[in-house]
Amino acid sequence: MSMQSLIDEGEKYLLHTYNRYQIALDKGEGVKLYDLDGKEYLDFCAGIAVFALGYGNKEYNDALKAQIDKLLHTSNYYYSKPAIEAAKRLVEISGLSRVFFTNSGAEAIEGAVKAAKRYAYNKNGNVDHEIIAFEHSFHGRTLGALSVTGNEKYRAPFIAENSVKFAEYNNLESVKSLVNDKTCAIIMETVQGEGGIYPAEEDFIKGVRALCDEKDIVLILDEIQCGMGRTGKMFAYEYYGVKPDIATVAKAVGCGVPVGAFLLNEKLAENSLVPGDHGTTYGGNPFATTAINAVLDQFEKLNILDNVCKVSTYLEEKLDELVNEYDFLTGRRGKGLMQGIVFDDSKKTPGEVVKNALNNGLILITAGKDVLRFLPPLIITEEDVDCMIEKLKASF
Ligand SMILES: *Cc1c(COP(=O)(O)O)cnc(C)c1O
Repeated sequence: MSMQSLIDEGEKYLLHTYNRYQIALDKGEGVKLYDLDGKEYLDFCAGIAVFALGYGNKEYNDALKAQIDKLLHTSNYYYSKPAIEAAKRLVEISGLSRVFFTNSGAEAIEGAVKAAKRYAYNKNGNVDHEIIAFEHSFHGRTLGALSVTGNEKYRAPFIAENSVKFAEYNNLESVKSLVNDKTCAIIMETVQGEGGIYPAEEDFIKGVRALCDEKDIVLILDEIQCGMGRTGKMFAYEYYGVKPDIATVAKAVGCGVPVGAFLLNEKLAENSLVPGDHGTTYGGNPFATTAINAVLDQFEKLNILDNVCKVSTYLEEKLDELVNEYDFLTGRRGKGLMQGIVFDDSKKTPGEVVKNALNNGLILITAGKDVLRFLPPLIITEEDVDCMIEKLKASF
């Protein structure tokens, strides 16, 4: 079947919730992807910050294959070795205390918000709590996660005005002005991804942490996109010397196997969800948690964090050069291998550049309406950056 007839079939049978690009990807190798016609693409998207290890990492693949032959699934009524090992390792790298595994990022957010609400409920028996979230934020597409998502285009058709208030990111005063006796949680991405690559400023995130401590408000840091080494530290909050009460992870934690988690500190673990409050059939099954263990093994073996720090410095330099060179680019924002360049969209839009890039064998995505986003596999080299810049210039 030709690639075009496959795409036509896809348009017939898949619900049209995406305006997909007109290619069907077939296989991957390292930082390269290949479509059904055999055309090669350099991947600077990594399945939206998922494929940290690149494609076809043999040890990761072998670990999954071995677990398939052993045991794919049990249920959460029983213990399993891969799940316990993965939980222990996530606790060690996060500095938090306990883990609940989910199947996706949105579900990690759902669980985190439930834990925060349960903590507040335990204190006073009320359920009319308020949550503070942020403009430009993105936390997922389920109803609970949507309710704390700042992007109105995603939220407004589904969620009525409710008990979530939206503050301005990196503006502590705007947060303070929304806090009241009902506020039970503040939820934010440590580096906003989807909304346009905005890293938290140090004073801001420290101020939010102090505010939460002072008022006994639960701080939830969403590290689904910026966590798992993406910024050069395992968790982006390590840059600021703050810790959340609850952190959420997904995307790169499974590197392609759908898995997520929310991680709680001791205070929340001891005073929020109790047996019967929360559950999942698949969450944390032996296959999914084997993926987490295999990912963490490769992070150590390949010194992923060192590579991110080294190559991201180079990527930043090269992107800054572009910003100086092209008058339709107005700036760069980001941390580590989570970068964005900002367009003056009256002159050129990132959307048209993404389309041109695809023709030139380069996979990129946008963020917000005026940002071109770079989320390469964390194993990229400086040569890959050079190759990307060349293809990107051709796409301008
Ligand atoms: C992708 C993402 C989510 C949602 O994760 P899904 O696995 O798509 O449900 C939540 N928060 C952030 C910051 C994300 O980037």
